[in-house]
Amino acid sequence: MVLSSVLGFPRIGAQRELKKITEAYWGGKATADELIQTGKDLRAHNWKLQKDAGVDIIASNDFSFYDHVLDLSLLFNVIPERYSKYSLPAIDTLFAMGRGLQRAATETSPAVDVPALEMVKWFDSNYHYVRPTFSHSTEFKLNGQKPVDEYLEAKELGIETRPVLVGPISYLFLGKADKDSLDLDLITLLPKLLPVYAEILAKLAAAGAQSVQIDEPVLVLDLPEEFKAAFKTAYEFFAAQSGLPKLLIASYFGDARPNIDAIKGLPVAGFHYDFVRVPEQLDAAVEALTEEQVLSVGVVDGRNIWKTDFAKAIEFVESAKAKVGADRVIVATSSSLLHTPVDLDNEKKLDPVIKDWFSFATQKVTEVVIIAKAVTDGPESVADALAANKKSIEARAVSEITVDPKVRERLASVTEADSQRKAPFPERLAAQKSLNLPLFPTTTIGSFPQTKEIRINRNKFTKGEITAEEYEKFIEKEIQEVVKFQEEIGLDVLVHGEPERNDMVQYFGERLKGFAFTSNGWVQSYGSRYVRPPIIVGDVSRPAPMTVKESQYAQSLTDKPMKGMLTGPVTILRWSFPRNDISAKDQSLQLALALRDEVNDLEKANVKVIQVDEPAIREGLPLREGKERDEYVQWAPLSFRLATSGVENGTQIHSHFCYSDLDPAHIKALDADVVSIEFSKKDDSKYIQEFSNYPNHIGLGLFDIHSPRVPPQDEFEGRINDILKVYPKENLWINPDCGLKTRKWDETKRQLTNMVNAAKIYRAKF
Ligand code: GLN
Ligand code: ZN
Repeated sequence: MVLSSVLGFPRIGAQRELKKITEAYWGGKATADELIQTGKDLRAHNWKLQKDAGVDIIASNDFSFYDHVLDLSLLFNVIPERYSKYSLPAIDTLFAMGRGLQRAATETSPAVDVPALEMVKWFDSNYHYVRPTFSHSTEFKLNGQKPVDEYLEAKELGIETRPVLVGPISYLFLGKADKDSLDLDLITLLPKLLPVYAEILAKLAAAGAQSVQIDEPVLVLDLPEEFKAAFKTAYEFFAAQSGLPKLLIASYFGDARPNIDAIKGLPVAGFHYDFVRVPEQLDAAVEALTEEQVLSVGVVDGRNIWKTDFAKAIEFVESAKAKVGADRVIVATSSSLLHTPVDLDNEKKLDPVIKDWFSFATQKVTEVVIIAKAVTDGPESVADALAANKKSIEARAVSEITVDPKVRERLASVTEADSQRKAPFPERLAAQKSLNLPLFPTTTIGSFPQTKEIRINRNKFTKGEITAEEYEKFIEKEIQEVVKFQEEIGLDVLVHGEPERNDMVQYFGERLKGFAFTSNGWVQSYGSRYVRPPIIVGDVSRPAPMTVKESQYAQSLTDKPMKGMLTGPVTILRWSFPRNDISAKDQSLQLALALRDEVNDLEKANVKVIQVDEPAIREGLPLREGKERDEYVQWAPLSFRLATSGVENGTQIHSHFCYSDLDPAHIKALDADVVSIEFSKKDDSKYIQEFSNYPNHIGLGLFDIHSPRVPPQDEFEGRINDILKVYPKENLWINPDCGLKTRKWDETKRQLTNMVNAAKIYRAKF
């Protein structure tokens, strides 16, 4: 019999219950008990849903109140002293590490003021994890037993689960040394870390867990030798302990073959591979198995929303079965379903023709079960499901919705010159003197706080409770306020604040042809921040201007330069669910042409500073070195330049990047006049150094926009001082890490005021 398995289920709830309760808790409107109860309800619901669907192997400990990597840091007591010193309740320590905490002293507790830990993108996804931060004084020990508690919680509901933990090699590799311990070599922590892993594994076994899924996604990265070798050390160490559960090592998001020697022959129960991404790794995966080990075959995409092609998936699993035998094959999702929306049934407004092509987490659970059944009992046993699936797959393949001949022709006629500015940077800079910018120009990244009022009005407009005119008036009023505020505190390049945008990708998706969008297809991006990625279903074009009205209006309110704000082609692609029937490159170039029209229209409307955000450019980089990566570093910048090169020299093109380990060479290839980079938590001087050769102008983010914390002015001055030790003063811009939409006005005002005042102090010095 071939078993079915789901590597993890979205934790946010079908109605975003998790977001609502965590934000209520942060705002003092819900108690810790209420928060904990909602978590419990969500877990019970998700386990039951999978059990009812007939899934054989259901994950537990896939739940988290913020981030599952952060959970592990708490579990192993990897809590820097700046957090532990407050002795907060565990849940508050978790949130303090995840998002920072600043609060005044009360009668019962002292004042707290601590920034968040660094947050980085999870592989090539738009999920962000909180980076484990180690120091010489890190003392690994078990701190609670979350995985055991959640395993037992499921058991009490009559549901046997397979707990999941990020494995020791991935946990270390994805971490970093704290700023007081920069000489710390992370791999040297392994001997101290392993016994604590063994301890939690033993507790799981004692609680009854038969097996544990150990996620080692770093297997799909280019690993240094010492990390490769660490697999043997770690898993042999576990095998030598008595009373541990069986372990299944899971890789996902890519090709594990280059590291397969590191895991071949390890004394574990089996391995999982992502065969959606890399079906070619089957032979190597089979070859690396011992006679007893199982192969978990990821054939249902955990990263996208397309229906699984059953015929193909079944054929694939059959070929695996032929190689290793039915009882050693498990049909699985390619990765956790964390990256897919919860339930397609919540979509009442989708065109039924298109909806029939999709499958969300709840549907994918059933897909896994059907495929396993087809392989176990024969296709006849699920004949209806297979027939319906075949029909959907075929309908999409021939649908006219997917192809627009005009878009294809335009793309085919693009020339080399289309992706090059009219002159090199120095000449453009001279032409941009007319913007009259001072030394250390100050600006923001685009969005201002998205207040309750904004959300209420947007909702009313969506529901038809207010007219388009009323809504427009409201947006204009918001823009007026944002412009006035920026003038008051003395920012130099203003923004309109993006009040009309729900989300930086969704907003464009809704205005471009070729996209479908959901009403409830939320996916966790980080903490309580969820996004609703649009879905690219066909060739993309721009029927009409998308942002010109708001930017033009904002510019009319001020003599200072107004910055037009767009999301770049690569980011729109990365933060949408892409097509799987044409290449990523073609989708990106189609988007670039649509955005080029918008950039040119903004320029015509007298908006002479235009920022095209590409925060996702790094996460799109193929995870391994090689051909795919070489191609990406060509077509990604090409797309950006194609979008932005239609303008005159005097028009200043900005770009922005955040929350990833950027490579300066890739950023340089965009040839933007000014780039702003998230930086405030990258506290190491290495990062400052790396970007110091950036030939054009640059702003390193000076404060953390995810945190309500307000850095005092002298902290800003200190940061500017550090940067100026390395950067020529003429090149430097002053800005926050990223957009301010998640902040409250009060915090934002104080943060920006301190930032601008610090810039003024420095300006006066030269
Ligand atoms: N312009 C966007 C904003 O300010 C950029 C957001 C981002 O980089 N994630 O919200
Ligand atoms: Zn950003």
